[in-house]
Amino acid sequence: MTQTITVIRGDGIGPEIMDATLHVLDSMNLGLQYEFADAGLAALEKQGELLPQATMDSIRKNRIALKSPLTTPVGEGFSSINVELRKRFDLYANVRPAKSFPNTKSRFPSGVDLITVRENTEGAYIGEGQALSADGEVATLTQRVTRRGSERIVRYAFDLARRIGRKKVTIVHKANILKSTSGLFLKTARAVAAEYPDIECNEMIVDNTCMQLVMRPEQFDVIVTTNLFGDIISDLCAGLVGGLGLAPGANIGTDAAIFEAVHGTAPDIAGQGKANPCALLLGAAQMLDHLGMPEKAAKLRAAIIATLEAKDSLTPDLGGTGNTMSFAKAIASRI
Ligand code: ATP
Ligand code: MG
Repeated sequence: MTQTITVIRGDGIGPEIMDATLHVLDSMNLGLQYEFADAGLAALEKQGELLPQATMDSIRKNRIALKSPLTTPVGEGFSSINVELRKRFDLYANVRPAKSFPNTKSRFPSGVDLITVRENTEGAYIGEGQALSADGEVATLTQRVTRRGSERIVRYAFDLARRIGRKKVTIVHKANILKSTSGLFLKTARAVAAEYPDIECNEMIVDNTCMQLVMRPEQFDVIVTTNLFGDIISDLCAGLVGGLGLAPGANIGTDAAIFEAVHGTAPDIAGQGKANPCALLLGAAQMLDHLGMPEKAAKLRAAIIATLEAKDSLTPDLGGTGNTMSFAKAIASRI
């Protein structure tokens, strides 16, 4: 069966890492067809708008997009195109794996292999009730957590765990203080967890979670949490495994899913062949899992690990003398 995916080459280092990623995917005989669409600065220059209707239509039709980082120019109507895409497609699950890889700057060379599942649409990010009193002394903000929103994110986390063979889900909350919002999340999460007796489940308060992540990260497998806690925790986890060059992310909704690298457009190294393509490649591996090709995803990850182990053609950020495409070719040769 042929699957068509929308491919957004993006801005800055985007086109380079996308070409490298597609080179590796092409070597895997996946039966994928690419439909190229523009967003960000590239779209503004070619089509006069940041998020053209044709791009929206393409994602809606194919339901799957692989996306390079995008530049959101200041004063063009959006504060962030990435956030706008998440809103328009109701991409409620933000899924960020953090895994330590060989020959990278990880603080925990072997121990970290966890996935943060962050609720992406509600909590402190609904953009309501932001107010500052006239005298500038008092600020308020509305948070909203719903049973439906909590249920679908926790269910997503447990289904993911089951699908990819993970053993444990940790529910992260602050229900002792944020009794209404975090309380509802925790209560809903417990009910969902009861439906998955095959997956171990525990609960942890967010502050303790941060300490535990730094001291004993190996105890975590899948973490599920609300929007703001998930934002902070997923960056903490990226830091545990050596930062941006190897951090992928997926934004998943009912009708569409967008797979990406966590890092930005890196204008300082754009066009120089220095960009590390691994984060986007690992995003592509998440996409293959999502498309029901877990063996292919595993093969891709294994080829990346083998290339890192061999220190073959690594990009400068990993201490190598290779470039974006030679690194990709070294990975493809190990598939
Ligand atoms: P943006 O405004 O799009 O977020 P940025 O300048 O903040 O761009 P980031 O992509 O967030 O850039 O990157 C921060 C730093 O990490 C930069 O110095 C960049 O060169 C480096 N970096 C980011 N991604 C990569 C990558 N894939 N390979 C190598 N270095 C990278
Ligand atoms: Mg940035």
